[in-house]
Amino acid sequence: MTLAYEQLLNRQLQWALQEGSMHFEEKSAVHLTLRKITQRLAELNIPYAVAGGMALFFHGVRRFTEDVDILVTPEGLEQVRRHLEGLGYVPVFSGSTTLRDAESGVRIEFLVTGEFPGDGKPKPVSFPDPDEATIEKDNVRWLSLPSLIELKLASGMTSPGRLRDLADVQELIRVLSLPADFGQQLQPFVRDKYAELRASVQDSPGAQTIDLPPILSAPVYQTTRQDRIVGLLVERGKQYLDAEREFVTYTGLREADKLINDLEGHPHAFVIACLMDRQMSTERAWAIPFRLAQRFGDFAFSRLEKLTAEEVKRYMTEPEPLHRFPNEMSKNLYSAIARIAKDYSGNAAAIWSEEPSSAEVVHRFHEFRGVGPKIANMAANLLVCDFKVPFKDYESIDASGDVQVCRVFSRLGLTSPYPSPEAVVHIARALSPEFPALLDIPAWEIGRNWCRPETPTCDECFMQRVCPSALSKTAAGTLSS
Ligand code: SF4
Repeated sequence: MTLAYEQLLNRQLQWALQEGSMHFEEKSAVHLTLRKITQRLAELNIPYAVAGGMALFFHGVRRFTEDVDILVTPEGLEQVRRHLEGLGYVPVFSGSTTLRDAESGVRIEFLVTGEFPGDGKPKPVSFPDPDEATIEKDNVRWLSLPSLIELKLASGMTSPGRLRDLADVQELIRVLSLPADFGQQLQPFVRDKYAELRASVQDSPGAQTIDLPPILSAPVYQTTRQDRIVGLLVERGKQYLDAEREFVTYTGLREADKLINDLEGHPHAFVIACLMDRQMSTERAWAIPFRLAQRFGDFAFSRLEKLTAEEVKRYMTEPEPLHRFPNEMSKNLYSAIARIAKDYSGNAAAIWSEEPSSAEVVHRFHEFRGVGPKIANMAANLLVCDFKVPFKDYESIDASGDVQVCRVFSRLGLTSPYPSPEAVVHIARALSPEFPALLDIPAWEIGRNWCRPETPTCDECFMQRVCPSALSKTAAGTLSS
């Protein structure tokens, strides 16, 4: 006999809590059941769309649900009966169209094209043909957002016992910041209700509408959870990008920062600081050009290029070393001065002037001795974001794979847990191909300010409403309270 999943939840609180938590990591029995049944339906060529609470979850409203709703045609339902009943699935009672996964005990309810939501009586909104109302993602076919909202509105409007459906629509409006004109995609029967619910969301305290940036080509209402997360990161990154150039403060020393900020008069200071930014704190590394200037009077390139290798080493090491690896860094510095003199006629600004492509700039930094991909991309990213240097494009500037960024990407569910820096670089390329490093800035900010290794302060983090880690903590709290 198959034990019902919902009964197990009621009987075993500890297990229910665990399931609740796993649900938000998409590993609960309900998620596994959904994967299994959708795979079977696809194998049998039965058109379907995932509806109900799991479709809601897919579209961004994440709450625990204990069953799976699947929309099929009447012919599809016949095939389901013929091919699935008794073969890993059992009807909840004799003759029922609702099956139970024999292994997990999770209930699978089949909704049928042409039937009516809510009170079940004829009305202008009926369950659509799945072939005409789905979007596919990760090999699963989901009810499209307009259809989901339309059905929930019609259901809540006509059945007093289904008011929860109206609350679900409110939540979708809030979480996805659905615009007023989204209502135009809905059946006229439900449009007024949509407008009414949207107005109530707007009037509620703390209501906030977020316009996703144009870099995301999908209309706002098609966004999935991951799109939403990436949209918020991109939006934050673009705020930095679009801001006016300001005096940057990397070192905590006004005079040292002044030298770095003088990109026009001392562009080589920026290049040399980038070279030094390894195996030591950012503050100390970026102050090295200023410390060198203190040691030999000024930082004019005409003076630097006259230094011998021995003199460079002496200035780098005496009276005390400026870097943790003074010998290696002295060689890098001497080599950089020679390259700037030879390749750029003594003017390091030629590396990034005249709107080069991002690939050219990254490559030029990469050519300096001791510079790997991380520093080359960091240099290009700082020029664009902090110094507002225009490039022809930004597509070759990769994310850094910094430890903060790795942690935040993982907690946001953009990568597996404990991703390698390379994994982060690749996923950032996939998620933000026009400017992969744009995701770096907000991720770093989140990691530095709120997403600390031991105790993330999710309540203060602007990703809280979409972050799977934060939501799973909230869910566990809700279940246990
Ligand atoms: S909501 Fe919490 S876990 Fe998620 S990114 Fe922010 S601080 Fe990290």
